[in-house]
Amino acid sequence: MRPARALIDLDALRHNYRLARRLAGGKALAIVKADAYGHGAVACARALEAEADGFGVACIEEALELRAAGIAKPILLMEGCFEASELPLVVEHNLWTVVGSPEQLAAVEAFHASAPLNVWLLLDSGMHRLGLSPVAFRHAHARLAALAWVAPPVLMTHMARADELASTRTREQLDAFRQATAGLPGAVSVSNSAALLGWPEAHNDWARPGLMLYGADPLHGQTHAHREALRPVMTLEADVIATREIGIGEPVGYGARFIAERPTRVGVVAAGYADGYPQFAPNGTPVTIDGRPGCTIGRVSMDMLTVDLTDHPDATVGSTVQLWGTAPRVVELAEHCHTSAYRLVCGLKRIPHRYLHALPGQA
Ligand SMILES: *Cc1c(COP(=O)(O)O)cnc(C)c1O
Repeated sequence: MRPARALIDLDALRHNYRLARRLAGGKALAIVKADAYGHGAVACARALEAEADGFGVACIEEALELRAAGIAKPILLMEGCFEASELPLVVEHNLWTVVGSPEQLAAVEAFHASAPLNVWLLLDSGMHRLGLSPVAFRHAHARLAALAWVAPPVLMTHMARADELASTRTREQLDAFRQATAGLPGAVSVSNSAALLGWPEAHNDWARPGLMLYGADPLHGQTHAHREALRPVMTLEADVIATREIGIGEPVGYGARFIAERPTRVGVVAAGYADGYPQFAPNGTPVTIDGRPGCTIGRVSMDMLTVDLTDHPDATVGSTVQLWGTAPRVVELAEHCHTSAYRLVCGLKRIPHRYLHALPGQA
């Protein structure tokens, strides 16, 4: 069997969820879209179901996967329905749906649900992706209030730059949200992970933490009060499958991107870019080899990568190389490779997941 695995620490996931909920000071939807950011949506939702207030997903396919697995807590379709034919399924499976465009509002109005429909009304407070303009938002709120089968909507918006503590944009968006929703009844949902960690003034009845649940800090590199509080959930590791010694001036791997400047012991590791490790990780990208700091050398291949074992005399075939997890943290690796922690964890492929600390009956 190929010696590569992603260890998923469900205790750490629960710890991070509790932190998010505490920071929110209200309820928190655990965001498990994109297969729980590559961690496995069903396993993560099961691990959180006893304590989570609900879950957030990107589309009805993801919601139905959770319902089929027996997840009974509320599930919000954060982009709403993509076509009107999804609305009967929303009711049948007791889902919540966002209304964030004139088309989605018209579909809800044309749909006469038998059971109450839970709608989250999305304001575009300045991100200019999804959501209704302030005028359209208030108009839509009044139109939804006239529909007997629609429950009072949750008032929702999304922050574009909450991960930049020096930006004034979050405050501007919060002001726009306050103005647009002034006097309207209903619970409020504003914060993603970065807003929860960095912007306590972003008030929430319903926070929407995603990345932080998985132990990655969206504010990495900036000073904030919760830097040490998150526990990494995913550890990506693979074993050394071959070693060799090369002399000064000899290259390693495709493109000879590493040339030995000293007699060098090379370790070949069983994971590559087809598994989701960044292809253009530079020479010297940090890894942990049998618990000690090490680094990559040479270009990452599809199925393998190479590390410098010169200063790891005890490391040999079968040694474990941690590619991300506690060291390096996925945010550190992302920084080294000019990518994002979101993309790294969501990009995991082919690697089997091994779940640690599942609750009884959830393995
Ligand atoms: C993905 C998403 C979130 C979670 O964002 P993180 O930055 O991962 O915390 C929250 N709200 C909406 C609408 C989203 O699409």
